[in-house]
Amino acid sequence: MQTNKKCYICNKESEKGIDILGSYICRNCEQEMINDEGSELKMEYYKSKVKSLWKNNLS
Ligand SMILES: [Zn+2]
Repeated sequence: MQTNKKCYICNKESEKGIDILGSYICRNCEQEMINDEGSELKMEYYKSKVKSLWKNNLS
């Protein structure tokens, strides 16, 4: 049995994704982060999200 996890970035539930530092990121957001075609604003958003992830795990 598989339960869907909630994506840390877009808050959508998805069965496909990865765990980064204990937080779940869906396939979509993972691809968006890897893909350079995203807008700069979007990248800033992802970066700040990932940054706060790091902070949470370091403290
Ligand atoms: Zn997502």
